[in-house]
Amino acid sequence: MTHVQKKYHVPKKFTFQKVSFKRNTSPTFFVRREVKFKVIISMDWEGTGLEEKNLMAICDFKERWRVPFVHYHNPAYYTHPNFSEAEVHAFTSLAFSKDDEIGLHLHTPQHLLARAGVEPRHSPCFSRLGDYNPGPMKGQEVMLLAYQKHEVKRLVEYSLNLLKSHGYYHIQSFRAGGWMADERVWEVLSEVGVPIESSAANRRFLEGSSWEGDNLDRYSELLWGTRGSELFPFNLQTFSGQLLEIPNNLGAIDYWNTENIYQTFNELLAAGTEEQAHRGAPVLVINSHQETAADNLPKLHEFLAYLHGAYGDAFSFVTNKDIYIDNLEKLTAGSSLYA
Ligand SMILES: [Zn+2]
Repeated sequence: MTHVQKKYHVPKKFTFQKVSFKRNTSPTFFVRREVKFKVIISMDWEGTGLEEKNLMAICDFKERWRVPFVHYHNPAYYTHPNFSEAEVHAFTSLAFSKDDEIGLHLHTPQHLLARAGVEPRHSPCFSRLGDYNPGPMKGQEVMLLAYQKHEVKRLVEYSLNLLKSHGYYHIQSFRAGGWMADERVWEVLSEVGVPIESSAANRRFLEGSSWEGDNLDRYSELLWGTRGSELFPFNLQTFSGQLLEIPNNLGAIDYWNTENIYQTFNELLAAGTEEQAHRGAPVLVINSHQETAADNLPKLHEFLAYLHGAYGDAFSFVTNKDIYIDNLEKLTAGSSLYA
């Protein structure tokens, strides 16, 4: 395993190299060095726990790597019977940094549904064993696509307003609980003005985990097929408009097999590199979970150390918004962005 040489790595988005003509009166100019790939580190907030050990793990990680996160924040912390607003604020204000992007993550526990005015449904669940949560937490394991479109819309609108009331304006990114978003969810996102979707998941990373072959795995395959492993963002066309899909192609670190993650990563990247010339740099999206950060972030520490050892600074850390803006520029320039 390669060890980190520098304690603090400040990522450079673009690295510039000085180039000059041999026989030319032109002054020197700068060209962009090849950026092999871009990395998005994302974190789903489940709305179920606020443990100090996880907060410390997140703060430690950010202190060491100084990279932006896309936090998919969850409105359920504000409706959870066990958490006070002050407690949630104290936790998030330490976990979120100014360079981070705040998105929306949704599960359907009954305490959130009740506040949104949506009647609870009971299936399908992520696991064929059903939902084990008691009382007001029941429903956490039910898929968002169990709900009709008007119910999803009501829940999404309520959630965005609730987050706005706590200072989170202009949320532009979404990831569904258990990655379970279908057409009705995409249409709702388009209708409420959230342009970026990141629920497409690479099921390869569920192999060998307790989810392999379970509902989560099977539905993910049905919903996204191979699109969850795509290395380039793509256009998701709905009847209500289009979204930019940024697939979670490196899965969640919770389910990483540390024995073969490096090989899997290099195979994925090699597939993307062949297309790179005309489509730009591949975008690799890693997911994690706030509620299991202490257990799993050590895997990400090792992985980033590996990336720096293997690829130097020929990659950059970005957020969904960076990718979105970059793609808008490409569209404006008239190139064919979307596959
Ligand atoms: Zn979740």
